[in-house]
Amino acid sequence: MNKFDYMEKYGYEQLIYFYDKTTGLKGITCIHDTTLGPALGGTRLWNYASEDDAVLDCLRLARGMTFKAAAAGLNLGGGKTVLIGDASKVKCEAYFRALGRYVQSLNGRYITAEDVNTNTKDMDYVYMETDHVVGLEGKSGNPSPITAVGVFHGIRASLKYAFGNDDISQYTFAVQGAGETGYYLIKKLIEAKAKKIYFSEINPSHIERMNTEHPEVEIVEPDKIYDMDVDVFSPCAFGAILNDVSIPRIKAKIIAGSANNVLFDEEKHGPMIKEKGILYAPDFVINAGGLINVYHEIIGYNAEKAMRDTEKIYDRLLEIYAISDKENTDTNTAANIYAKNRMRTINHLHANYIPY
Ligand code: NAD
Repeated sequence: MNKFDYMEKYGYEQLIYFYDKTTGLKGITCIHDTTLGPALGGTRLWNYASEDDAVLDCLRLARGMTFKAAAAGLNLGGGKTVLIGDASKVKCEAYFRALGRYVQSLNGRYITAEDVNTNTKDMDYVYMETDHVVGLEGKSGNPSPITAVGVFHGIRASLKYAFGNDDISQYTFAVQGAGETGYYLIKKLIEAKAKKIYFSEINPSHIERMNTEHPEVEIVEPDKIYDMDVDVFSPCAFGAILNDVSIPRIKAKIIAGSANNVLFDEEKHGPMIKEKGILYAPDFVINAGGLINVYHEIIGYNAEKAMRDTEKIYDRLLEIYAISDKENTDTNTAANIYAKNRMRTINHLHANYIPY
């Protein structure tokens, strides 16, 4: 893999390797773009098969964060850190404090947070060595409930656009996954008196929780969730589920959920969904509530303000759907256009000289 060619192709700013000889910490931080502000992205710990796999994952995830933050209306750029190692062996205080010192050395150009195989406890150690870490215990808290709020408003916007009416009580829903985000989303849909909700799950304790708390929510076999004759299909489990096999089966008029990277192949499956006459709420726009919430830690945490900003996902999606109409393109491409427009126009402001 030629890293500079890749960086040139997608406009990356910086790729940093670091190694701590005492703890064996091996990491890579990627800063994709800081047009709108410091690059934010979590730290993922994974036993990558090769260094190239780790670099590619870091590059890809950092770029995704740029678009997510830009489309969420935040003054943040995109970044990511990946640590190469076995999570069951390497984690300790010194390991994460060593990471904190490397984060601090970037002087605020990059802000980290928890991600796969790292948690708030690990980030507390990072925080001992750097100010540039968010999502700490006792601050903005669990991101899942607010992510679900964002998804809920994104679903309302999608209903408004597709059917002219965003009253949840008139519609039926199929939710894939009742974990952290799916569970809170279903609760919101019940509060709004959804006509009927189906869900699929594979974790017995999550199935039991739903059956006990909300027996009216009907369980369906995991593979049957795609075939449900409902208005909204809400993927809230895992990525790459919208593909050649699943898309032809989907009967819902709207796909809108929390799961990341749901399109198996953005360039192929975004247009394929549009051709089928289904409205797709781009994942990185509708699931940005957690990022919006954590951003408020940087600017001074205020739960009400974070909630208001998350509710703006409604208007943002309507703007994106309008771009999709105007440009005659799929909604995922429209969301990328929306994010790029924001970066371009805000960047242009800096051409207007103001003495400080
Ligand atoms: P989670 O692990 O708490 O929930 C996922 C649920 O899906 C689990 O209960 C799991 O048992 C279930 N599941 C797994 N395979 C399934 C299958 N084949 N059929 C049905 N259910 C299945 O995770 P989460 O935090 O709710 O995240 C879900 C998705 O949303 C992920 O893609 C995540 O990256 C994304 N996301 C989450 C947040 C957040 O704040 N938690 C924010 C943005 C994006």
